[in-house]
Order: sequence, then C-alpha cells, then structure tokens
Amino acid sequence: MLKRKLTKEIKIGNIYIGGENKIAIQSMTNTKTKDVDATLKQINDLYKYGCDIVRVAILDIEDANSLYAICDASPIPVVADIHFDYRLALIAIDAGISKIRINPGNIGSIDRIEKVVNACKEKNIPIRIGVNNGSINKEIAKKYGTDAKALVESAKEHIEILEKLDFHNIVVSIKASNVLKTIEAYTLFSEEYDYPVHLGLTEAGTIYSGSIKSSIAIGHLLLNGIGDTIRVSLTDDPVKEIIAAKEILSALGLYAKPELISCPTCGRCQYNMIPIASSISDYLNTKTGKIKVAVMGCAVNGPGEAKDADLGIAGSKNSALLFKKGRVIRKIPEESILSELKNEITMQLDNITFKYFDKLNDDIISLRTKIFVEEQGFTEEFDDIDDNSTFVLIYKNGKAIGTGRFFKESADTYHLGRICVLKDYRLNGYGSIILMLLENKITSLYENIDNIDITLKLSSQNQAKAFYEKLNYIDTLNDYYEQDCLHNRLQKIYHK
Ligand code: SF4
Repeated sequence: MLKRKLTKEIKIGNIYIGGENKIAIQSMTNTKTKDVDATLKQINDLYKYGCDIVRVAILDIEDANSLYAICDASPIPVVADIHFDYRLALIAIDAGISKIRINPGNIGSIDRIEKVVNACKEKNIPIRIGVNNGSINKEIAKKYGTDAKALVESAKEHIEILEKLDFHNIVVSIKASNVLKTIEAYTLFSEEYDYPVHLGLTEAGTIYSGSIKSSIAIGHLLLNGIGDTIRVSLTDDPVKEIIAAKEILSALGLYAKPELISCPTCGRCQYNMIPIASSISDYLNTKTGKIKVAVMGCAVNGPGEAKDADLGIAGSKNSALLFKKGRVIRKIPEESILSELKNEITMQLDNITFKYFDKLNDDIISLRTKIFVEEQGFTEEFDDIDDNSTFVLIYKNGKAIGTGRFFKESADTYHLGRICVLKDYRLNGYGSIILMLLENKITSLYENIDNIDITLKLSSQNQAKAFYEKLNYIDTLNDYYEQDCLHNRLQKIYHK
C-alpha cells in the first residue's frame, strides 16, 4: 500500500481530488473547441474509457461561448485552458466549467486577476497553475536558469498572487519534458506546499516514448506518495492517454483495471484467435473493476494454463469452450464467441444474475407493463403464449431489470420475444445478455444430442432490428404490423 502525501482536498465538479481521494485521470481534447459536436464526441469517448476530468483549449470568444453547450452535455467535469485573456476566463466560468487552468501572472493587471479570482470564488471553481519550461519568466530564468528550481519558483510566483487575494482553491502542475527534471521539480514543490498536484510531462512524445517517459516520471512520483491527478500526454488519440494512465495506476495497485491474459498461439490453436483477443482487449479498456479474462488458443491446454482467470475461452473446432476458474461451462459457436464473452464479462463486472421461470410472475408482469404498456403504448401485452413460455429475468444487484421469453413453435424451432430492459439500464449490453440466456436455455435442451439444426426465430420492432442483426439474426423479409408498429421476422440457425 503506497503512503500518500496528504494534500488539500479540492472539488472539481462532482469529483474530489487531493487528500485521500483516488488519483484522477485527465486528458485534453484535440478538437477545435468551437466544434461542439466533435468536442463532445471526443469527451464521451474519453469518458467511456475512464477519463475523470477533461480539459479543452479556449483560444477565442467562439471557443469560450461553446463551453455553455459543452459543460451542459459533458458527463465529466470540464476544465478550460486559457492563456492570457481574462475575458475568456470570465465567460468560461459563467458557462459552467469545473476548473480553470490559467497562470495569474500572465493575465495582466491586478484588477483583471481579481475579477477572475472573484468569479472563481463565487462558483467555488479551483484554479490550476500550470508551469512548464516555456512559461518561466525572464527574471527567474536569469536567477535559476531553467532547472527544476526555476519551475518551482515560477509556480511560487503565481501562487503568491492568488494567496494575496485570499484564494487557496489551487492545483499545481510543474511539467518538463525531461523525466528527471520533472521528478525533481514535483518533489521540491511537494516538500514546501500541500496544494494538490497534477502530474505529467510536457511534450512527452508519441505512443512509445511518451508512455514510457510518463510511466517513469509519474510512477516514481506516485511511489513516493506525490500526485493527485495524472495525464499521460501523447502525440496521439487522447483515448490512448487514458489507456496508458490506467496501466500506470493499475501497475501500482491504484486502479482496478480488468486484466487480459492471452496465449501466444501455436500450431494447436483451432480458431481465429488474434482478432478476438484484440477486440476483448479494447472492450476491457472501456471497463473498470477487477476481473481476469483469458483468451486461449486450444482446449487441450487453455483452461488449465489459465485456471486462475475468472472467465476465459479456449478454441475448439469452429467453436470455443467458455470456462470459469478452469472449469468448462459451455461451448460457444465461432460466430458468437465475441458477443458471448463480452456478455459474460459485463455480467461479472456489473453484478448481473439471472433466473429462469416456467410461468409469469410479478417481476415479469411489472417489467413488461412498465416498458411495453406505459412507455411504448401497447395495449395487448399479455397473451396465451405466456402460458406455454419459458422466461428469464435478469437482476442487477438483486433488482429485476430485464426479461424475455421463448416458446416452442414446432420441432426444433423456437420463438424468442418480449425482450426488454428498464429504461435507466439500457445501452449497457443487457438486452444482448437476455437474448444469450434465452438461447442458452434452448440449446441446453439438446445437451446430449449432436448434429442438429435448431431454428431460433424472433419478431422484432423495426427500431431494434439492427441490434438482432448484429447478433447474427437474419431478416426473413416477412415484415408485418402489430398494434400499428412495424415488426420484422428474423431467424438464426444454431448448428449443434
Ligand atoms: Fe498453443 Fe494451446 Fe498453449 Fe495457446 S493454449 S500456446 S494454442 S498450446
């Protein structure tokens, strides 16, 4: 367990940094901030990958005005990066930013600084002082050159301006592009101040050099208890900054990041494993929480070699075996490996459990009434088919949140339907989990039978058709209307 230097706790939007709060991960958009759609798209991508706080560059009045829409829609606190113009700072503060990065010494006269400080005080917005090699002023450079001490002196100068105005809601970064200088500067600063610090290197470089240099500098400082937020600056897609930051924190035991283990493959590998391993790696990068997932090439050695994995697959002929802690659970056809493994990961990380029922119960009635009747306006929701159906209910932390049913239509042909998830829980892949659970229940009826085709049919509202097509259902081009809503008939053949 690392011993952290306890810094002052600071609130940035809905998160806290400093003190004993978790180390926050930051990044910066590289879109034109005035392009609100592009900026929000990038912010949402960053958020999906685990970014806690995002910074945007404010170069002019158009950028500043776009902050109203950006702050309103951003899922994470937004920081405005402003260099000199105090008027842009005032607009940004009014627009709802959660932190501002500005160096008071660069704003100009004291009354301008005071205006910004007062606006920040009024809204409880912290100021990040960000010094780096390029921002050291001439006098300090004359006295100290451009070494680590000069960076600290430069930060001090800005801090003193704010403290004189009785402003202490401060975060500091002191970045150099040199690893050793960065480490020395942050270490010197932390000996003297207890303001929280944002760690990073400036102009760190492209993916390899940037990640490696940042890992050494940030890792060293964190090991010494220094650092409250981090950014791995990379000349690349900002999402990669988040992935690298999570790796650094996870290596130090400061972040619960899902872990992927995969074999190097050899002649025994029985399926096209490399794209699956790479897709699962991407998927895990969008998740938090503790889970170890294995993607292994063959069933002979895979489950045994990866028996400490919470979840894994091992290749078999045109299929894969799903195993948990080394125990084989079921066989998955090749076309469904990716979707089913993702479902299993989501279930474990989101604490999703399930149960099958052979008749309607209060939870199923309540979910279908809420979703199909109250939300979507259907009137004839319950029918005779319910009398001959098997149902599944999924629960999140014990609460019923989704359901589905199937019935036997004719020999080896089943009809699936009434798949629904409560509104607040959608867009998490839970619909796909319900479908998988219904399919698993059907195929389990054929446990000891091989070489058989099982036909799975379903009727989908037209708006959900693409969802089923992604899961290998094919449109039979036999559309129809039910209660004024266009439906498509889809099917998939499961060969066992
Ligand atoms: Fe080869 Fe199987 Fe080991 Fe992968 S798990 S390296 S395919 S023996």
